[in-house]
Amino acid sequence: MYNRILSIILLVLLGLAVGIYPMGDRHAIAESKKTIAPPSDTSSTTPSSTPVMFGHFAYEEAPANALHTIARAEDGYEIKLRDAAAKSYLSMVEAARAEGIDLVAISGFRTKEEQRYLFYEIARQRNQTPSERAQVSAPPGYSEHHTGYAVDVGDGANPGTNLSSSFDRTVAFQWLEKNAVRFSFELSFLPNNPQGVMYEPWHWRFIGDEQSLATFHKDRELTHSSNPTR
Ligand SMILES: [Zn+2]
Repeated sequence: MYNRILSIILLVLLGLAVGIYPMGDRHAIAESKKTIAPPSDTSSTTPSSTPVMFGHFAYEEAPANALHTIARAEDGYEIKLRDAAAKSYLSMVEAARAEGIDLVAISGFRTKEEQRYLFYEIARQRNQTPSERAQVSAPPGYSEHHTGYAVDVGDGANPGTNLSSSFDRTVAFQWLEKNAVRFSFELSFLPNNPQGVMYEPWHWRFIGDEQSLATFHKDRELTHSSNPTR
């Protein structure tokens, strides 16, 4: 009898020592912490049913604190990309320079407001309808430039080809075609792309991390998987 009481006391003490009893409370605290934790950032994830306008997919604007300056335009405007894309782009510029190629960033991240000007104002100046304009420029909210992963590149030795299909005859383009993949950049708008967007040899997008790849997943499926020969 005495032994039995002793062993019960021992078991209770052992239980306290290994912390079995406060377990319920600790679990409750963990649960309450879970419920007050801020929701994770889902702003950059693509919705399951991606809206499309004139062949352009909808994109979220990259937060300002995720951007890094890659170049400065002549008027002082800072050309920016998302950190991972910026880092890779700058390494690419270095590698090209080592081979005598001068890659020049013409445009990177754009806000929806900037895109609004490019789409509507330039359309008015050029007497273009929205669908005509959409062949050469995305409507605001639908530009890859909002993501901070897309960059328009020119050849410093041949600025006359900037933002023109003739850019693909420059040494800069030939270098990019051969080497951009090493830096996780690819062309977004190939010739005769199924999105119906004009061929843009100057427009490259970063696909070198999970977030960028997820961002462009739908377009890549359409353009790069269904037309592997292009
Ligand atoms: Zn572009």
